[in-house]
Amino acid sequence: MTTKPKPKSKRLPDPTPEAVRSRVRRRADLPKGENLCDHCTAKCCQYFALPIDEPVARKDFDFIRWYLLHDRATVFVDEDTWYLLVHTTCKHLQEDYRCGIYETRPEICREYTTDNCEFDDDWCYERYFETPEQIDEYADALFGPQFEQAGRRKQDSIRSRRPTGLPVV
Ligand code: SF4
Ligand code: SF4
Repeated sequence: MTTKPKPKSKRLPDPTPEAVRSRVRRRADLPKGENLCDHCTAKCCQYFALPIDEPVARKDFDFIRWYLLHDRATVFVDEDTWYLLVHTTCKHLQEDYRCGIYETRPEICREYTTDNCEFDDDWCYERYFETPEQIDEYADALFGPQFEQAGRRKQDSIRSRRPTGLPVV
């Protein structure tokens, strides 16, 4: 009688830090006595947001359009306050999602707690602008078009405008 060779046990690769941390998806699932930050990919260290003046005039919206012409900049409104949000990772965030300057981290980081942090937030805002075209369209609805362009159709409105042609010499 022949015996079937036992399959060699395969060593599974170590889970990535992301996989380890994604086991707790909601703060309600956090095991008692554990630190929420140990289950997070440091969401709060990967952006900064600053309150900005509420735009009231057409030129204010054009200023916001300028923000949005930049990479990783977005603008949102939360409870009637306008914010500039820049998606950028802190230079001191380490690969294991821990702070590299924990002992000397800025006051704003010290004061931030897990009580109301964005650990399981869905980031849903009624007014959230990611592109210059979106804020332009919003302002156009309030003030009328800033730039008239012959042949511009309504369905083209979220596209970039055609650049002005160079003069023919
Ligand atoms: S404070 Fe909240 S968002 Fe920041 S690392 Fe901890 S759990 Fe994540
Ligand atoms: S200093 Fe530390 S806690 Fe503060 S944002 Fe940077 S990595 Fe996060």
